[in-house]
Amino acid sequence: MSGGQKIILVTGGTGLVGNAIRDIVDEDLRPDEKWIFIGSKDADLCNKQSTEALFEKYKPTHVIHLAAMVGGLFHNMSHNLDFLRKNLHMNDNVLQTAHENNVSKVVSCLSTCIFPDKTTYPIDETMIHNGPPHPSNYGYSYAKRLIDVANRGYAQQHGRLYTSVIPCNVFGPHDNFHPSASHVVPGLMRKLHDIIADGNTEDKVFTVLGSGKPLRQFIYSRDLAKLFIWVLREYDSVEPIILSVDESQEVTISEVAEALVKAFDFKGKIVYDTSAADGQYKKTASNAKLRSYLPDFKFTPFDQAIKKTVEWYQDNYDQARN
Ligand code: NAP
Ligand code: GDP
Repeated sequence: MSGGQKIILVTGGTGLVGNAIRDIVDEDLRPDEKWIFIGSKDADLCNKQSTEALFEKYKPTHVIHLAAMVGGLFHNMSHNLDFLRKNLHMNDNVLQTAHENNVSKVVSCLSTCIFPDKTTYPIDETMIHNGPPHPSNYGYSYAKRLIDVANRGYAQQHGRLYTSVIPCNVFGPHDNFHPSASHVVPGLMRKLHDIIADGNTEDKVFTVLGSGKPLRQFIYSRDLAKLFIWVLREYDSVEPIILSVDESQEVTISEVAEALVKAFDFKGKIVYDTSAADGQYKKTASNAKLRSYLPDFKFTPFDQAIKKTVEWYQDNYDQARN
């Protein structure tokens, strides 16, 4: 890696993961690093000229590329084309502009939900391109998969170290709590918050979409942020790396709902709307590669991370993305 001062540009710096990276960086500032966090108000990364102006302004040596059109199962199902096109444009603009500006390292973000639907478990880093993704989110999935294809091209043709990480489901402060766009944790958190706003009583009904049976691995955004920073500083391979909790920490959606009920001390009952989609049944990912580098990394226990996120949401409801 190049010596001297690093200027690290974080695209998507105003979102869930970007805010968590900012918080962790603030606790561990290094004199040879200058961090810049940008959101869509700073540049429209779907637009090449706007992306070029951003790189011209900050002259980054390193980029963490988080910016994306991101959403939960139901938002993906109704907007597959938008997820495909916006993410294709953003990813191509960021990677190509980084190359044109001689950026020495880019860390982009894939997701465990882009893997083949029909597969063996656990999923690992070698399996990204082994078959079609789940039909619910094919637009997002193909756009994300092409980051890995592009990274290999930038390495092969230009000798670049442009790599990617593959997080499992993420949650934490600064998530998107909007009912039509949110992932399951912020979506259900918003719902519970609103249900008990006028009284936490036994007659209240908390509706969880789908059967509650699907399985997911969830990483707390602060844990993911620490791993992202480690990748930027220490992981020097084009090959993607899964950033996930252990397989033993996988939970059902029912367990998510129950953890939220506990954190809110909700007095009513849970009902499952089985007419709504379940999406992928599971996408169990192996973090063996990560563990080979960081065997002792401690993930925040799920219940504790849920509690902290609920506290943040209650304290920041007025400013949250609702
Ligand atoms: P998020 O909270 O929705 O944040 C998205 C970020 O992208 C925001 O900072 C947003 O800026 C920016 N952005 C969107 N469109 C843009 C545009 N046209 N130009 C410039 N910036 C734009 O998302 P997140 O959950 O932090 O996701 C971060 C990364 O992690 C994404 O690449 C996502 O695919 C990946 N990921 C997320 C999860 C998850 O469960 N959330 C799981 C696996 C992987 P403004 O807010 O300023 O508009
Ligand atoms: P996914 O992990 O990519 O499928 O994304 P989500 O976080 O959106 O959904 C995970 C699971 O939670 C799916 O099985 C959904 O059916 C279930 N789920 C239950 N209630 C909700 C809700 O209110 N919002 C969302 N987004 N998902 C929900």
